[in-house]
Amino acid sequence: MSVTVVGSLNEDVLVAVDRLPGRGETVVARSSSLAPGGKGANQAAAAGLLGPGVHMVGRVGEDPAGDRQLAALAGSRVNVRRVLRTAGTPTGSATIPVEEGSGENLIVVVPGANAALTAQDVDVPSVRDARVVLLQLEVPMAAVTAAARTARGTVVLTPAPPQPLPTELLARVDVLVPNEHELVHLAGAAPADRSPEELAALARSVSNGDVVVTLGARGALVVPGNGGPVLLQAPPPVPVVDTTGAGDCFSGALGQALARGTDLPEAVRHAVAAAALSTTGPGARGALPDEEAVELLLP
Ligand code: ADP
Repeated sequence: MSVTVVGSLNEDVLVAVDRLPGRGETVVARSSSLAPGGKGANQAAAAGLLGPGVHMVGRVGEDPAGDRQLAALAGSRVNVRRVLRTAGTPTGSATIPVEEGSGENLIVVVPGANAALTAQDVDVPSVRDARVVLLQLEVPMAAVTAAARTARGTVVLTPAPPQPLPTELLARVDVLVPNEHELVHLAGAAPADRSPEELAALARSVSNGDVVVTLGARGALVVPGNGGPVLLQAPPPVPVVDTTGAGDCFSGALGQALARGTDLPEAVRHAVAAAALSTTGPGARGALPDEEAVELLLP
């Protein structure tokens, strides 16, 4: 296997409303729809569509939502043999009212079966033998840390949602991939507009390893752990429709490129192009590119 993702699988419940409800208020929705989600599963779907050998490790419930998450991942060429089913607990979900017009939203997450993932669940060959293991923080920290300990390949951590990282985990991470907000949170700094040099200094204060800071429409900043030159990789111009899940696509594409033996700056160039393409359609998985589309976009 080339890339194994350890993390969350959720069902997103998207609810279109004319205006978001206030506290204690009831509003009637125009429509609702279901979409596969969860940071872990989104990263796996992105990696699976870009290349072979992608495995997912996680938990869903014994419910129809769990069946839908497994089917969606399998449809993105992800091996789901190591996604376990938890009895008596629902598949994780995120209920997301979205205000028509403004696009503003609220998100209520029910962790469900994701919260049942244990250190034992991740002590498996798919994690041990993967070239690249992709981690995020929507499953218990004990499972994330155990996966980093078990992995013999390159460990890539997206520190989202932001929370303090155990020293053991940070020491085993080869590539940390925060967005700007997550980096500021990890560094305990105040939010501010920062230059690439200032962001690089923050990154080096957080980790001795390689750090890739994603910067939305500005692309991504590569901060090598060996003190080498900092590189800002700008995205190619694309017609942006919806940036939901762009960071997940970025990490999935980065993992797939690193698993092929690509060096970090080139892997980031690849991930920036893939993530840009993912913003050209709706939702987190509505426009995930395949390898051919990424190659066409790269000069
Ligand atoms: P997150 O989705 O975690 O908030 P970012 O907003 O930093 O993370 O986006 C992740 C990556 O997606 C960026 O590094 C960039 O490559 C790509 N991306 C995000 N927004 C845009 C955009 N408007 N145009 C082109 N690429 C984008």
